[in-house]
Amino acid sequence: MNAEKLSNRLEAVANNIPPGSRLADIGSDHAYLPCNVVKKGIVPLAIAGEVAEGPYQSALEQVESEHLNDKIAVRKGDGLEVIEPGEVDCITIAGMGGTLISTILEKGKSKLEGVSRLVLQPNVGSFAVRNWLIDNGWELVKEEILKEDGKIYEILVAEKGEPLKPYQQNNLEEGILFGPFLLAVKPGVFLEKWTAEMNNWERILKQLDEAVQNEDTASKRLELDKKIKMAKEALK
Ligand code: SAM
Repeated sequence: MNAEKLSNRLEAVANNIPPGSRLADIGSDHAYLPCNVVKKGIVPLAIAGEVAEGPYQSALEQVESEHLNDKIAVRKGDGLEVIEPGEVDCITIAGMGGTLISTILEKGKSKLEGVSRLVLQPNVGSFAVRNWLIDNGWELVKEEILKEDGKIYEILVAEKGEPLKPYQQNNLEEGILFGPFLLAVKPGVFLEKWTAEMNNWERILKQLDEAVQNEDTASKRLELDKKIKMAKEALK
């Protein structure tokens, strides 16, 4: 992957950036995503945010080598602290766990004023992102799922709106776990992901059945039982 040719995963993120937006890509690493969309003219300018020194230097080098310094600002900092309120319209956060993405959004809430779209690509734990969106007035407007190099990724797109609107067709807990738009369509990759998850939960449940029983194992069994039932329902 490079800034010319993004991975399918980052391409799918890029395709959900509204043309003309001022973009902040948080956790940008090599800044491939902002370089790609600026070069294509999809966005006029972008900020690449990075917390770690190595990836920050990679982003600086990439932007420099593409001669995009006048259009892409590379900033070092934790999450949304690299942007000012009202500075961008769209934020992308890709390639991290769902819990980290929700922590970044939670800590940077004050910077979301004026942001009209979030494009989030959690590698795992999408439910944490959906929970954060619901709690903070963001409405999921689209979800995608794709498989690349043997890994399955979800992309969640949200705008300010009615956070519970997409969940009206399902039980809320199921919607948060599986994704309301993905549940409505159940693409092949979705079935593959949840079949594997369910098999894993069943394996753990079997191990718990064989372990010494105490309060802890009992509550874990209950939790797994519930998730397995939900997955069976979702896979129908
Ligand atoms: N976004 C790119 C992608 O999807 O290919 C890079 C993903 S890379 C696996 C995750 C990046 O997020 C790392 O470069 C890491 O340093 C950065 N990161 C993690 N926590 C961060 C935070 N709180 N603020 C900014 N960047 C962060």
